[in-house]
Amino acid sequence: MAILPIRTFPDPVLRRACEEAEPGTERIRRLAADMLETMYAAPGIGLAAPQVGENIRMIAVDVGGTLGSSDPHILLNPKITASSDSVAFEEGCLSLPHIREEVTRPSTVRIEYYDENWNLREEEYDGIRARVIQHEYDHLDGKLFVDKINPIRRKLLTPRLNAISRGKVESEYTIVYPKK
Ligand code: ZN
Repeated sequence: MAILPIRTFPDPVLRRACEEAEPGTERIRRLAADMLETMYAAPGIGLAAPQVGENIRMIAVDVGGTLGSSDPHILLNPKITASSDSVAFEEGCLSLPHIREEVTRPSTVRIEYYDENWNLREEEYDGIRARVIQHEYDHLDGKLFVDKINPIRRKLLTPRLNAISRGKVESEYTIVYPKK
């Protein structure tokens, strides 16, 4: 396993729609293990493959730490099949260090996905899990949480986004700035 460097805004890899994961390949198995290790090291509670430079529809999530125990999940080729009413909640992102903003999303989602053993699963998530999974799911379509905040807040963030773009930001984890 390896800790991978995390791509930061505005790396083009974060803006591309990802491709479906291929079942049972060694590449997917290794990437799943590396993504979990990278996420724990950051530390974070969710990570999407494009954040480590891989345009594959794969998400790693573990909100166990916030609930008192470890609970790693790998979601391959996830699809949101149903969602509830929306609520506002503060989010952050390892690709946008030190930015936290309120985002409005459904409080409950039903998701169909393949796990790391390529079993098809369908589960309903709520609370922090639903929030993290939807945030990571957006990464698979090249979307970032700052795209969803209100336009005035987004405008106020411009200097901080520019600072991240220029590599003028500190982080606890290894990050990769886009090449100029
Ligand atoms: Zn993110």
